[in-house]
Formats: sequence, C-alpha cells, structure tokens
Amino acid sequence: MHPTLPLLAVTDFPPLVRDRLTTLQVNLGYRCNQSCLHCHVNAGPTRTEMMDGDTVDLVLDVLRARRIRTLDLTGGAPELNPHFRRLVQAARADGVQVIDRCNLTILSEPGQQGLATFLAAHQVEVIASLPCYSVANVDRQRGEGVFDRSIAGLRELNALGYGEGDNPPSSGLTLNLVYNPQAAVLPPPQGALEADYKRELALHFGIRFNRLYTLTNMPIQRFGSTLVSKGTFQSYLRLLKEAYRPENLGTVMCNSMLSVDRQGDLYDCDFNQMLDLPARLNDRDRPHLRDLLTAEATGESIRVADHCYGCTAGQGSSCGGALDATPTAPDSEPVSMPVSMKFA
Ligand code: SF4
Ligand code: SF4
Repeated sequence: MHPTLPLLAVTDFPPLVRDRLTTLQVNLGYRCNQSCLHCHVNAGPTRTEMMDGDTVDLVLDVLRARRIRTLDLTGGAPELNPHFRRLVQAARADGVQVIDRCNLTILSEPGQQGLATFLAAHQVEVIASLPCYSVANVDRQRGEGVFDRSIAGLRELNALGYGEGDNPPSSGLTLNLVYNPQAAVLPPPQGALEADYKRELALHFGIRFNRLYTLTNMPIQRFGSTLVSKGTFQSYLRLLKEAYRPENLGTVMCNSMLSVDRQGDLYDCDFNQMLDLPARLNDRDRPHLRDLLTAEATGESIRVADHCYGCTAGQGSSCGGALDATPTAPDSEPVSMPVSMKFA
C-alpha cells in the first residue's frame, strides 16, 4: 500500500483547536466477521487485536471523569469484543448515549444470538453502512451473501422498532445508514439521497430508517493508495480543496471528539488514528486514555493535514454525515444513481 501521509503533511489547512469534548469514539479491535476489500483498518476474521478489559474499564472511568455524553463504538465489528455488552450496559446505566457502528451481518453471526434485542433493550443507536446499490456491488466489495444478510439485519432491527417515526424517533431506537461514493467524487446532496434511499428501501424491502449520512472518501489508507496507483491522488486533493467551505470549520467532528485505539492511545479523529497522528494533550508525545483522567482536552490544538479538506469540502463530512446539507456539492455523484439500483 502506498503511504499517503507524506503527500498530506505539508498543509495550508487552517489551524483548529478543540472546543469541547462531548464524544469518545472507541475502536474495540480489528476482528470482524467480514473482510471487505475497501476496509480501511484491514479488519477480518483472522485479526486478533482487541481492546482488553482493563482498557474498557478505563473508557468507563474517562466517560465519568470528563462527563462525556456520547460513546461511539467502532472496529472491526465492535460487537465481537468480549467486553462489548458489559461496556454498553455500564455506559447506558451512566446515562451515556451509545452508538454501535454495526455491519448488519453480525446480527446473524453464530454466537451473536440476541444481539439486536440487546441493542434495542439498551436503546443503542445503530449506524450501519449500506454504501452500494446492487447485490453484485455489495457482495463484490463486502463478500458473498452480504447484501441479503444486510437486508435481513435491517428487517430484524425494524421489527424491534428501530427506524420508526421522526428524527430522532420517539421510541429512542435510532437507525441511521451510511453512504460513501464509490469513485473519486464528492457525495451527492445528503437530503436528496436520503429521500431516494427511503423511497427505494421501503418500496422493495419494506425497510425504514431515520437518517442517511453521506461521507466523503478520505485520501488516506486503501482509498488514498488506490488514487496514488491510478495517478489521481493530486486531482482528488484539488477537488477537495476547490470545494473548501470555511463555514464547515466550526462543526468538524474533531471540535468535540477524541478517537481511541484498542490500546487506549488518543487521536483527534479516526482518520488521524489511521495515519498514526496522535492527539495533543498536555505536551505528551502519545497521549493515552489515562491522561484524560487528569487533563482537559478542551483548548488543545488539533493535528491537521491536507486530508482535513475532506471534512470541509462541499456540504462537509463527518461520522455523523454532512455538516451542512444545504449546498449542492460540485462534481458529486448523480443523485439519481441509487434510484436506478437493481434491488434483486
Ligand atoms: S464490515 Fe467494516 S470493519 Fe468489517 S471488514 Fe468490512 S469495512 Fe472492515
Ligand atoms: S480529518 Fe480529523 S483532524 Fe482533520 S478536520 Fe477532519 S476530523 Fe478534524
């Protein structure tokens, strides 16, 4: 894989300072029941790296000490960490909102019986990736049979009350989907694409969900490396820079979150974790969760590089989707594409 940090490190991206810390995004490990071609952490069934029980305890201590309101769990498949349910239960008992970034097929994995019911019982918000529009596309990228199992997972969540009603739903069972472009273009306008997804998924499968999050592809890891191989890395970076909107700076996710790797080391966001750019905290080289027991992350400067333009281009992008869903993104994928997807 081509390294991308050397192509991004010299930057004119504006300096950023963390405003407040409201969200801890925690990677519970790289084990996954799938092994998708595009996976940016190279997760899979043979990976053994997992967050251990002591570090999970530390996550809970930090949530309490810093009064952090949202715990965002990712992986791999976070549910495969043996401490997943204990962590969710304890965080919810403390009144923390918990997000599970769920790949949907994990719901039907052997040994995961009752997972959907557990998530519903603890009112865990589910964010699930459904980036492609056809059985063939999904199965080619994510594995044989993944599309059908994803649809089955969505139906199981719907049957429990997920995805019903308003945003957020009165049931407290939020089900959001994630879309990212399959090419080196910006995502289409989030609101219009969400309407298309809602219509098509309801029509063909009777599936309901709350919000669709459109994410911009970052020029890092496997996607960035592919751009380098094709000779299109610089033109994609130019696309992101030409679509820069300074009004998105105030809502980029690093303003209010920290990302934690499985060993407890801290980063400004998941992308910086993948680039191995540690967060800054009290002048430490590589700050750790335990440092957050005594130090405030508010007011710390953020490690920016040219990939940050991916967060501010067009309607903006974050783990919670567009930052501003109103503008029409230039050079975006046509909104009509998912409407014509073959759902069979
Ligand atoms: S489901 Fe997600 S974490 Fe698992 S291999 Fe696919 S992209 Fe990676
Ligand atoms: S890439 Fe990370 S550090 Fe850069 S603006 Fe986006 S969230 Fe912030």
